[in-house]
Amino acid sequence: MHDLIIIGAGPAGLTAAIYAARFGIHPLVLEAAVPGGQVVTSEEIENYPGVERIEGWRFAENLKKHAVGLGAEIRIEKVTGFEIDGEQKTIITGKNSYIAKTVIIANGVKRRKIGCPGEDEFMGRGVSYCAICDGNFFRNKTVCVIGGGNTALEDALFLSKICKKVYIVHRRDDFRANNELVVAIKSKDNIEIIYSCVPKDISGDKKVSGITLENKMTSESLQLELDGVFVAIGLEPDNTLFTPYIEVDKNGYIAAGEDCTTKIPGVYAVGDTRTKTLRQIVTAASDGATAATAAAEFIQKV
Ligand code: NAP
Repeated sequence: MHDLIIIGAGPAGLTAAIYAARFGIHPLVLEAAVPGGQVVTSEEIENYPGVERIEGWRFAENLKKHAVGLGAEIRIEKVTGFEIDGEQKTIITGKNSYIAKTVIIANGVKRRKIGCPGEDEFMGRGVSYCAICDGNFFRNKTVCVIGGGNTALEDALFLSKICKKVYIVHRRDDFRANNELVVAIKSKDNIEIIYSCVPKDISGDKKVSGITLENKMTSESLQLELDGVFVAIGLEPDNTLFTPYIEVDKNGYIAAGEDCTTKIPGVYAVGDTRTKTLRQIVTAASDGATAATAAAEFIQKV
């Protein structure tokens, strides 16, 4: 029986681990991929208080070291099952089955997919969801970034330093991203913006060689020859494992407020996975601290 299991090792989960460890709990953190979460895929972080500028991977590494240094245990195991039976919470992974007194769900969000033909077929062969991770494979090549938010424009700026040419394909004629990013991409000679278009088909042989777009205003088709497609059309929750027991909102985020409690005593939801207005590292960290404190109080009572 574990006192506390934390599902996910992003800023929310690892902050929960840091706080829990300082309360004398030995938290077990289960992470499907790499500790750090989305932070690992950020080139730089410039909005975490007290840290003027830091590379995403370094921030993630610091978080991990901090949590492990205080006694948290991180295991790379993907959670595949979650069961509640009375007060017993069972967490199943590909390797183990764990029972815990308290659980903090910090599983974050996943990248949204386009859903067009070729997207799945060419994933890892020209289709990518992470410019920082995969950009270098497209050195001096032509790529497009799909999306009009901060991630898409940051990705395009990053790729413009590596690639010969970068198209940005956005479904409207007005960007969702912050103005300074819009100004920055417009100043780049090797970035071309294609407005009001959506992807219809990603094509190629062994690797991506082109994309077909449809103009939403005119319904005309446009064919681009390119080597890579970076998808940055937002994020969505991934909470189907929990929905038999835990309430989610209409968009699939766990219905938990600022106190991070769910309707199941001893189960908390923190960071991007819960209903909230601002999804940032600082708000994720705040949730982690709140939930770990509540979990420590819960453990003392049971
Ligand atoms: P986002 O802000 O939700 O933007 C998603 C973009 O993709 C929007 O432009 C949207 O178009 C477009 N889109 C959505 N579904 C689409 C579809 N099916 N087909 C084509 N286009 C589609 O997502 P994000 O850029 O990943 O950012 C997520 C959150 O992280 C945001 O809150 C963002 O501000 C934050 N973030 C912040 C920073 C920073 O502070 N520097 C950096 C990165 C991300 P519409 O505009 O038409 O809806």
